Amino acid sequence: MSGGEKKSAVSPTVLLVAFVLLLASGPLWLPPFYITLLNYIGLSSLVAMGLVLLTGVGGLTSFGQAAFVGLGAYTTAALSTGTVALPEGLLWLTHSPWLALAVGLLFTGAVAWVLGALTLKLSGHYLPLGTIAWGISIYFMFGTLESLGGQTGMAGIPVVSVFGIELARAEQMYALIWAFVLVGALTTQNLLDSREGRAIRALKGGVVMAEAMGVNTARSRMVIFVLAALQACAAGWLYAHLQRFVNPSPFGLHMGIEYLFMAVVGGASQVWGALVGAGLITVLKQWLQDLLPALVGRAGNYEVIVFGALLILILQHSNDGFWGLLSRLVPVRARRKTVSVDAEPLPRQAMPPQGEPVLEAREVTRRFGGLVANDAMSLTLHAGEILALIGPNGAGKSTMFNQLSGVDTPTAGEVWLRGRNVTGMESRDVARLGLSRTFQHVRLLPRMSVLENVAIGAHLRGHRGVFPAAWRLDRTEESRLLAEAARQVERVGLGPWLHEPAGSLALGQQRIVEIARALAADPCVLLLDEPAAGLRHLEKEALAALLRKLRGEGMAVLLVEHDMDFVMGLVDRVVVMDFGRKIADGLPEQVQANPAVLEAYLGGVA
Ligand code: ADP
Ligand code: MG
Repeated sequence: MSGGEKKSAVSPTVLLVAFVLLLASGPLWLPPFYITLLNYIGLSSLVAMGLVLLTGVGGLTSFGQAAFVGLGAYTTAALSTGTVALPEGLLWLTHSPWLALAVGLLFTGAVAWVLGALTLKLSGHYLPLGTIAWGISIYFMFGTLESLGGQTGMAGIPVVSVFGIELARAEQMYALIWAFVLVGALTTQNLLDSREGRAIRALKGGVVMAEAMGVNTARSRMVIFVLAALQACAAGWLYAHLQRFVNPSPFGLHMGIEYLFMAVVGGASQVWGALVGAGLITVLKQWLQDLLPALVGRAGNYEVIVFGALLILILQHSNDGFWGLLSRLVPVRARRKTVSVDAEPLPRQAMPPQGEPVLEAREVTRRFGGLVANDAMSLTLHAGEILALIGPNGAGKSTMFNQLSGVDTPTAGEVWLRGRNVTGMESRDVARLGLSRTFQHVRLLPRMSVLENVAIGAHLRGHRGVFPAAWRLDRTEESRLLAEAARQVERVGLGPWLHEPAGSLALGQQRIVEIARALAADPCVLLLDEPAAGLRHLEKEALAALLRKLRGEGMAVLLVEHDMDFVMGLVDRVVVMDFGRKIADGLPEQVQANPAVLEAYLGGVA
């Protein structure tokens, strides 16, 4: 155990139980007006929660969530009021709102999948712009289609029944809405706390890192996009049966923006922040809509200006939004991962036989415009060998690593891994074949614990997907993955920092965390880009000892390093690069005496 816990910190379980009790007792003591308000807060919370996953965690901004709310609402309205003419054989779908919910979720999921396939490829600001485009299109479709009631909308939506009880009154819908919110929050929380969730969180650490660890980032983006749409759809379904009437106006772009406000103001990376944000914005809107026009003396949506100012103010003070401010007032004890020592170890790959050529570059050339960063580079790495790739800054070593690991594709030449031509393969597929790597510029998730960062490396050694994770059916596998990650952290000597945020470690130690993450993948080829940079003498010795041990186990290690004392005492062979070309290849002592190498390093002074 490290890091003293504050005695005063509140346990999250106690907080959750208190919150649920407070919610459940609401109808007993709250006036009806507040129940209605809480119903709207609950509906918005569901949508904002999807945005926490999508925007706060995954880094994808969507202004179009209101359109998905609309799809949920309109599907159930169309089915349950019989507005849409269905063929005889499908009439049973109109019999219960619950069937309409299932249809709505399927339909919204399909629409989101298509929209996601079209827009998630967009980068930078084009993605939010894309969401605005389809958000507006869907909104106008509601108003234009005569069969959906046009601008007038559809009335006469029936009430929902649960176990034969008709939920006709606001406080009855209150129970249903908040049951949805709680289930949504808990399943989202569970999802984030899993293999699949780490892959989603890794999106923020950069696509390159996540892919190199075996994560299919396009799939992860799609998963959160569809999940956020489904949560919005469920909110729309609840809304339709609460109002018993729908028209297009609540599903426009202005609501899409408001949902995003809620997520960001609440604390975009926190599931419970969605509730805080939804509560805050809904109450504030109610209040400002009464107050501001009276102050200004004219009618108008002045609250939007206040929201904007609020957003900027909160973002300046806390990246975690209002939730961040709240949790500073009431410190909540961090949930600490338990690592079970008796989890069954994960299966391991057999190492290739000692001396077998495992990784080969054949005349690899990489051009960046006019610059030739790698010029017909060839090298061979054998099992049970440590090979150093050295050369002055800008020689093309990191570029070489990218060609070898599938992070980048050579302009010409081939890369072979364990007898397979892997040129042009995705880095996650190269990872699957047993190659793992670290990055010269550390790519960790600074706020995630060392343990969880390392567990990202074990991504390909687990299989459980989104649904098992959301319902905690993945716990056996998860404890095996975490135990493996913890084992690697111990192995590289960072045991005492297991539960610390990776960003709190010294930069040199963060490089070591990257080595543990690479090892968690159970590779047979390890590529380390400047692993000893920033380490102190004793730490370097410990690293050298670890690398020798790995070599003894049959691992093939390729490393870039500037510290010649470290390199020369450790490695079996050295390849020297200068201006993208190989200028020497041999035993350390041969290379050290090579005039071309001295020339490259000392500029001919020798
Ligand atoms: P090293 O790791 O040996 O210091 P790099 O492989 O990082 O060298 O860089 C080799 C050369 O290629 C440098 O001149 C660098 O500016 C250039 N380079 C690397 N990556 C890119 C890129 N993505 N686009 C353009 N130039 C690049
Ligand atoms: Mg480099």
